[in-house]
Amino acid sequence: MQEERFLIVGGGIAGLTLALALEKKGFASLVMERNKGSLSAGAGIQLSPNASRILKSLGLGNPLLKYVSRPDSTKFRNWRSGKIIHKSDLGDKAETNYGAPYWQVHRADLTHVLLEATRQKSLIEFLPDCEVLKIHSKDSGTLVETSLGEEKGVGLIGADGIRSTVRNEMFRNKEQARFTGNVAWRCLVPADRLSEVFREPVTSVWWGPKKHFVHYPVRQGALINCVCVAEKDAWTEESWTKSGDKKALNRAFASWHPNIKELIQEAHEEELYEWGLFDRPAMNTWFKGRTTLIGDACHPMLPFLAQGAAMAIEDAFILAEMIAKQTHGLEKTFEIFFHERIKRVSKVQNASRRNATVFHLSGISTLVRNIIAPTQGQRISDYLYKFNAIDKYSDKPMII
Ligand SMILES: Cc1cc2nc3c(=O)[nH]c(=O)nc-3n(C[C@H](O)[C@H](O)[C@H](O)COP(=O)(O)OP(=O)(O)OC[C@H]3O[C@@H](n4cnc5c(N)ncnc54)[C@H](O)[C@@H]3O)c2cc1C
Repeated sequence: MQEERFLIVGGGIAGLTLALALEKKGFASLVMERNKGSLSAGAGIQLSPNASRILKSLGLGNPLLKYVSRPDSTKFRNWRSGKIIHKSDLGDKAETNYGAPYWQVHRADLTHVLLEATRQKSLIEFLPDCEVLKIHSKDSGTLVETSLGEEKGVGLIGADGIRSTVRNEMFRNKEQARFTGNVAWRCLVPADRLSEVFREPVTSVWWGPKKHFVHYPVRQGALINCVCVAEKDAWTEESWTKSGDKKALNRAFASWHPNIKELIQEAHEEELYEWGLFDRPAMNTWFKGRTTLIGDACHPMLPFLAQGAAMAIEDAFILAEMIAKQTHGLEKTFEIFFHERIKRVSKVQNASRRNATVFHLSGISTLVRNIIAPTQGQRISDYLYKFNAIDKYSDKPMII
């Protein structure tokens, strides 16, 4: 059993990115993932420039190129007429403006690329089918009990997602999830079953009363990723893998634009998922001794700003940089990491929450929304995408 390595719980986007970022700094890690390895569930993930620049810096730019789609713009449309309310440029303009590309990718493709990269690194060990069950902290390190036995490390990072075991074990954080009254259906529709209009490299966001619909290409345009959100009174389970009811989806969007009806019509029922959207208050702390959390484990967010994966990637990169520069011990580093991140992730969580209201407005208030949307949108995009974790945290001594 090795002690001079970090224990990472969860081999999702945050955990694998962290292992790669630590390896780049010369640190060994053990990634424990409860799934058997086929991390294929899920649909589209947006990788905005704040995230893609980090993935590129970790050497993943080329391997990702064969999977990603690169939209030219995001078009916000009226739910019934299809009229463009506001258009925000992506593509070359975003790359010039923000210094990194805007990509969209199937979640399975992203985790595949991350996993392949970790397999090539001798300092990273990936243990599939390994569920972390209990955590025992010690002054000198951490010990975890897993479904496969015990593991020891110098420090422990919980990257184990929305239902984090590490969070529950270490922080006794009582689950305070609140159903937002929104349900999201997710599906991937093969582009060759759809009309020509869906070949456009564009992200489309349709705003309607109490509902919105987002679709964009992934797998270089072969699939169209759809996220269809509707307000609903009845509680719906929070699960990435619960099957969706196509009849209910049809009913919810029955009076919408023909493009939306075409997408729903062509969606395979067996590939349709339904996901209750839950909100959680920000945590007061997520560091304790030699343990910290990253990604959805400490700041899960509603999907209305498409920043869940991006924030997890930022966390992973910044934490590795801080560990590499630490001079005051790991405990202090984890504390500083929390204070460094809490402001930005809380701001993004709040902005995502606000979008739930803004997207679903009806009546006269939509007139105001539509007028301010371009300025507001630009301000949020600049805040999110200009953030350059590499410039901010690499090769600079850590100021305490
Ligand atoms: C199955 C699935 C499908 C998703 N689909 C989408 C989608 O379609 N669109 C979207 O925008 N976002 C999706 N997400 C969420 C998105 O991936 C995350 O918001 C984001 O990337 C943050 O990543 P994370 O690594 O913090 O958490 P996650 O991506 O949730 O990764 C956490 C990992 O930890 C593992 N894990 C959990 N508990 C334990 C334990 N006790 N021991 C060992 N391993 C453990 C999980 O199996 C998982 O692999 C999905 C997440 C999951 C898990």
